[in-house]
Amino acid sequence: MLEFVLNFLFPPVCSICGKLNKNWLCSNCEKRVQRLEKSCVIEIKNKNYEKLLYIFQYESLVRKLILRYKFSNQAYLNHFFANMIIKNEENCKLLQEYDLLIPVPMHHRKMQKRGYNQTELVANELSKILKIPTKSDILIKVVNTVTQSKLGGKARQSNIQHAFFVPKDGEVEGKKIILLDDIYTTGATSQECSRVLKEAGAEEILILVLAKD
Ligand SMILES: [Zn+2]
Repeated sequence: MLEFVLNFLFPPVCSICGKLNKNWLCSNCEKRVQRLEKSCVIEIKNKNYEKLLYIFQYESLVRKLILRYKFSNQAYLNHFFANMIIKNEENCKLLQEYDLLIPVPMHHRKMQKRGYNQTELVANELSKILKIPTKSDILIKVVNTVTQSKLGGKARQSNIQHAFFVPKDGEVEGKKIILLDDIYTTGATSQECSRVLKEAGAEEILILVLAKD
């Protein structure tokens, strides 16, 4: 019912050109985006997370889409991004080895301002399809940090340090976790979130991002 009402209020349109389209992407634009798809897995050493899966390189059309998704009130793009992740069978196989999906949280004040956490919306879509639960109350952002993209490499690390907190250790203990974020640049956010999750007992962490810079 809710979905019906939402579709009426916000009819599904192609996420790129804006034409009405029930799949959120018309075939023309799909071809344009497909050319940019990577779905690349990297094994990580000497960090608190073991793997990084990114769907796109952060450039051209994809960069524009992510910026619109984050800053221009275009929350409906979550369908598009979730579909880009799950339409690749290898991605699905890998993700289904994990127990929990955790979106990188926003500070509650930033959340109030934007109205939605773009990463959480994609996580919810993935949960429905992959049957992996999304938990948004396991990892909390306790410090309202400066937006990472405004800072250089070293400053990013100190900016984000001690910004996250795991209120319920029991829920991550022994779990294989997918940590979902939008953009991977220096990996400072991934590292800090993974650090607190590992301290709380997480067994293994895969970082899943829409795009890698
Ligand atoms: Zn289109």
